[in-house]
Amino acid sequence: MGIERHWIEVSGIPVEIHRKAIKNLHVGVYPPDGRVRVAAPERLDDDAVRLALVSRLSWIRRQQQAFNDQPRESQREMVSGESHYFRGRRYRLDVIEAPGRAEVHQTRNGWLELQVSPGTGIEGRRCVLERWYRQQMRQLLPELLATWEPVVGERVAECRIKRMKTRWGSCNIEARRIWLNLELIKKPPRCLEYILVHEMVHLLERHHTERFRSLIDRLLPDWRVRRDELNSAPLAHDDWDY
Ligand SMILES: [Zn+2]
Repeated sequence: MGIERHWIEVSGIPVEIHRKAIKNLHVGVYPPDGRVRVAAPERLDDDAVRLALVSRLSWIRRQQQAFNDQPRESQREMVSGESHYFRGRRYRLDVIEAPGRAEVHQTRNGWLELQVSPGTGIEGRRCVLERWYRQQMRQLLPELLATWEPVVGERVAECRIKRMKTRWGSCNIEARRIWLNLELIKKPPRCLEYILVHEMVHLLERHHTERFRSLIDRLLPDWRVRRDELNSAPLAHDDWDY
């Protein structure tokens, strides 16, 4: 059975509806233009979905507006109030100028507190945040490797993190060295896991052959979902109980 999918319009906003065997109504606002996609429980008909969306129109419009206002990564000014992502969640930046060690704290209610000494400029602030991102990502790797090395049956000599413009990861098979894109720490952890496993499978099969595909199908059956999520992460999403 395929996924049932169709469109409705709610107050001028086109909404893509997927019906699934789920309990909650899930609404996502997606790049590049703030398109709205809804995953709805099968028992909710279009009228019920429309009603639910009308009650959340201001939320949806706010997300679309936030997206339009969102500067590109390179244009980030590193000032309070800006959106920054960490492990698939959006956080607001709170720049705190205080003497002492520069550090980053993540608060429960969705703030990234960036503490820097007074007068620290954009570049300095960016460096502090990037260093923190690296630390956070590095901390995730030992457990992931310990989980996956026995499953894949290959040992990774070195797993390193760097900024990459065009790829999520790469694998130097001879050196058994895997490189992961630092951007992955901004994505849901299951996306990072998918890229790591993908690169590890290259230790078994160099190219994206049929064999590669059947290996990754067996090791990580939901890899396509993770890949799609990686490449179309929502800007914002919300689950409501019904
Ligand atoms: Zn590959």
